[in-house]
Amino acid sequence: MDKVCAIFGGSRGIGRAVAQLLAQKGYRLAIIARNMEVARATAGDLGGDHMAFSCDVAKEHDVQNTFEEMEKHLGRVNFLVNAAGINRDNLLVRATTEDMISQLHTNLLGSMLTCKAAVRSMIQQQGGAIVNVGSIVGLKGNSGQSVYSASKGGLIGFSRALAKEVARKKIRVNVVAPGFVHTDMTKDLKEEHFKENIPLGRFGEPLEVAHAVVFLLESPYVTGHVLVVDGGLQLIM
Ligand code: NDP
Repeated sequence: MDKVCAIFGGSRGIGRAVAQLLAQKGYRLAIIARNMEVARATAGDLGGDHMAFSCDVAKEHDVQNTFEEMEKHLGRVNFLVNAAGINRDNLLVRATTEDMISQLHTNLLGSMLTCKAAVRSMIQQQGGAIVNVGSIVGLKGNSGQSVYSASKGGLIGFSRALAKEVARKKIRVNVVAPGFVHTDMTKDLKEEHFKENIPLGRFGEPLEVAHAVVFLLESPYVTGHVLVVDGGLQLIM
């Protein structure tokens, strides 16, 4: 059977690095993001027979359409990576309801919607694997990130529950929880201010997280696991 992987948030950052590794391993990929131009450029850079799709994960209709289109053009999806995510960091007292909703909708509801669509397809294929990209702050919490932490903590609870729900259908669900990683999401952070608190003394690179994602996608006896990839940050948080 073809290995077909849908990567939501695959156009940039961690998702893009996952795409690079999976392309080298012979997967057929769907690179999915809101900005079609960037998604198409990423799919093109990978070489081979990959496709780009435009989709806002927070919109159920978009997610359903994307799965229909993927099935039409690539075949059934048997691997799913949820790397689409946003942050709107702020102290809770300053956070707007709009920012709360957009983080919860993109980071949590979005992954629920993509998992629901993927699991339906995986049940018919009698197997599949999902990796959701959480965050260390979903386990530890972080000041100025209460809503973002809630979205990622929720994602961990959701993933573990879903892992139980679908295990008998030979579908595995795992989480990678990164610390600070060099991507657009962290480009405004001054690494100097943070690195002395990171045991390994630096931010991570997208490919370093991507290796953990691929490991979980391809580990047939691992499910319901949260793999922390944070340079040791959790040791001191
Ligand atoms: P980037 O900002 O580099 O990339 C985010 C990706 O998600 C882009 O492809 C973006 O494309 C896509 N995306 C964002 N919103 C949506 C949406 N509503 N629908 C579809 N796609 C969307 O982020 P990272 O690579 O850093 O983050 C990847 C994941 O890792 C996120 O879930 C993030 O929370 C998590 N993470 C990141 C950390 C870090 O330090 N970088 C640390 C811990 C966790 P487009 O804008 O075109 O939609």
